[in-house]
Amino acid sequence: MASCSKRSYVTENLAVDALIEARIRFLSNSASTVYCCDDCGMWHLTSRGDLHPKLKTAIENGTIQKENRAYQWERKLR
Ligand SMILES: [Zn+2]
Repeated sequence: MASCSKRSYVTENLAVDALIEARIRFLSNSASTVYCCDDCGMWHLTSRGDLHPKLKTAIENGTIQKENRAYQWERKLR
């Protein structure tokens, strides 16, 4: 099986977690959803396609904003 140069995740759940984490760290992050790669069989993030429902919920209910603020604070204290 070919290996991709893109960051890969073994399961969809791990990819979705990474997707949300990426948005928390960089609000301008463009990755919107995850997909299973035909080449390597692993999961990658992509900015193509509709927002993943979990990411959409996290944006809409303020989780991303809240976590981003916490993340910024952590960085300041370091
Ligand atoms: Zn791949």
